[in-house]
Amino acid sequence: MKSYPVLAYHKISQQWELSFTMMYPRAFEAQMRYLAGKGYTGCSLKEYLAEPAENKFVLTFDDAYESVYRYAAPLLEKLDFHATLFVPNAYIGKKNDWDFTPGNIRSRHMNTAELLELHRKGWEIASHGEGHRVLTGMKAPGIQYELEHSKASLEELTGGEVSTFCFPFGVYNKRVVDAARAAGYKNLVGFTGAARHGVIPRSVVYRCVDNPRSVLRKIRIHSFCHRFENCKEQLFHSFAFFTRIKQKLMR
Ligand SMILES: [Zn+2]
Repeated sequence: MKSYPVLAYHKISQQWELSFTMMYPRAFEAQMRYLAGKGYTGCSLKEYLAEPAENKFVLTFDDAYESVYRYAAPLLEKLDFHATLFVPNAYIGKKNDWDFTPGNIRSRHMNTAELLELHRKGWEIASHGEGHRVLTGMKAPGIQYELEHSKASLEELTGGEVSTFCFPFGVYNKRVVDAARAAGYKNLVGFTGAARHGVIPRSVVYRCVDNPRSVLRKIRIHSFCHRFENCKEQLFHSFAFFTRIKQKLMR
């Protein structure tokens, strides 16, 4: 199984919520400064695949939350790091309505101006589909729409090719992988331990569980400790299951 040094983050926010994937800005800053101090540079997936190097790792942010623009982007600019943003196209500038959060916290996704500013600064704008749906449960025309409409819209927005797709909830099978390739995506990403059908796995960084040292283990893909991190992530990824149940009930 080929490994890649790819980190997956979601919200970087001051707002507390009962979520394993949100990260406080100070914790995120400690992780990034630690990796920079070890000589690593954060880059987008597109940049990494074009020119892989031992001292590079890939930063990805799922769902393109406004909090990432507000808290992560200024720090990454100081460090001269870039990242890949996975944008659910139908939610640009809107509030999230699929996440299961006690207290019903609704976070805003980046608007077009914010996406374009980061794109100009070297970030990769990539697709996370239209409506953040689990593609494997959909019929062919719906899958095609999720893949093709989001790609075309984001390409029109950025004026460049959108070549990367991230499967919502990290869920995929051969049928949706084939559909994504047919839609023109070159790079497909999932979550931890999900390296089937040529999909690039990523290491999710969890609040309360991870720290700068564990994040370093996640990007040291040739070390034994990397496998330990994989097992830990798979356990926590199972919590995403509850969000999917809620989404099913709502539709
Ligand atoms: Zn997502």
